[in-house]
Amino acid sequence: MGFNIAIDGPAGAGKSTIAKRVAKELSFIYVDTGAMYRAMALYMINTGISPENTDAIREHCTGARITIHYENGEQVVVLNGKKVNAFLRREEVGNMASVSSAVPEVRAHLLQLQRNLAAENNVVMDGRDIGTTILPEAEVKIYLTASADTRARRRVRELEEKGLNCDFEEIKKDIIERDTRDMNREVSPLRQAEDAILLDSSDLTIEQVVESILDIFKQKTTQKM
Ligand code: C5P
Repeated sequence: MGFNIAIDGPAGAGKSTIAKRVAKELSFIYVDTGAMYRAMALYMINTGISPENTDAIREHCTGARITIHYENGEQVVVLNGKKVNAFLRREEVGNMASVSSAVPEVRAHLLQLQRNLAAENNVVMDGRDIGTTILPEAEVKIYLTASADTRARRRVRELEEKGLNCDFEEIKKDIIERDTRDMNREVSPLRQAEDAILLDSSDLTIEQVVESILDIFKQKTTQKM
């Protein structure tokens, strides 16, 4: 069994940046579960399934064979034999992922992959239900959040850095809609696990958040010894 750090929180709270940094500091593997849901969403888009068609999502999800491996420390997502990282960050894919991830069959399809990774490796895993459902026994659980404005500003910056045009209000609206869907779905809704530590990154730098998590990790490991 590996040492497991779970980081959950809403879209744009900085989970992946922070989780990657923490993993690097500790020489753990970073597991981005959002990328797995995005790969599933890409499969649905490529198959011509619309977000409204829950029956088709349910029926077709087992056709998406998703695996991950690491190249130079980066998580590479393979969908039916093809590396798909380059397509996963598109807004269209994120929006489809937010809808298709609410389908129980989709979650069941990805659950074992996530648990196996955590059983075999020391991981920092980020997502929405890692502390509550996937790894309820994780040694460290963080709930990372930030205000909707802060998160929208960060997303706009991220997209602009990639040379993509975007509108702040549009992105903020998407973020709020995604929060609502993620928090109110029936299966594995996004919520803070009872034993998770809340970190609000709105007024903190990346370094400060990383330091806080490393401190929590150190406290846990000293308690265990
Ligand atoms: O974190 P990211 O924005 O890449 O995730 C895309 C979507 O996948 C989220 O909006 C969420 O609906 C879904 N997701 C999930 N459970 C996870 C990770 C992501 O439901 N563990």
